[in-house]
Amino acid sequence: MKNIIIFGAPGSGKGTYSDEIVAKYNMGHISTGDVLRGEIKNGTELGNIAKGYIDNGQLIPDELMIDILAKTYDALGEGKGVIFDGFPRTIAQAEALKKMLAERNHDMGMMIELVVDEETLMARLLNRAKEQGRADDNEETIKKRFDVYHNQTAPLADWFEKEGLRHTFTWKGSKEQMLSDIFEAIEKENN
Ligand code: ATP
Ligand code: MG
Repeated sequence: MKNIIIFGAPGSGKGTYSDEIVAKYNMGHISTGDVLRGEIKNGTELGNIAKGYIDNGQLIPDELMIDILAKTYDALGEGKGVIFDGFPRTIAQAEALKKMLAERNHDMGMMIELVVDEETLMARLLNRAKEQGRADDNEETIKKRFDVYHNQTAPLADWFEKEGLRHTFTWKGSKEQMLSDIFEAIEKENN
């Protein structure tokens, strides 16, 4: 399977769709948010650094993030495609990912962009706050994360467009519809 970069605003469903794709096509999955939350839970030095940024709705600095990503990717081992969930989030991260993969004779594969209106995003994240109690899922921090997304991450969609990798899927109220459209695009890419 080709690698997949799953891209979208906080609450757009990156983790949810990644789990479905992983189960169907037996791919590897790197969620940088999950990696960071694991470090925080284990009380590592990296976790301590990351916590300050995450609780504030800000991005972890690129250099640190790129290093974590490369280590996580290499630890997965070769053989199957990988879904990158939550990375890249800046142009610098995207350039670094492209380079990191090229050095290993791999490539980015395809990018899946999830487009969801902000009202739906906010409702989902507030609901997740009740269910999972994530420290950054409160209204104030969510608004900061939306700003960071618009300013730093959303411009990356054009970057992927220029790379010829962008596939956009817009939420119209049905998870089943999204999933079947996404599966169809993945299968076309891997024909
Ligand atoms: P969702 O998982 O619902 O799509 P999200 O995108 O906000 O929401 P995560 O991807 O789990 O959530 O990220 C949570 C936080 O972890 C981010 O707000 C940021 O502080 C940090 N983080 C995760 N990935 C990166 C990254 N690639 N670069 C910088 N910071 C990151
Ligand atoms: Mg997630």
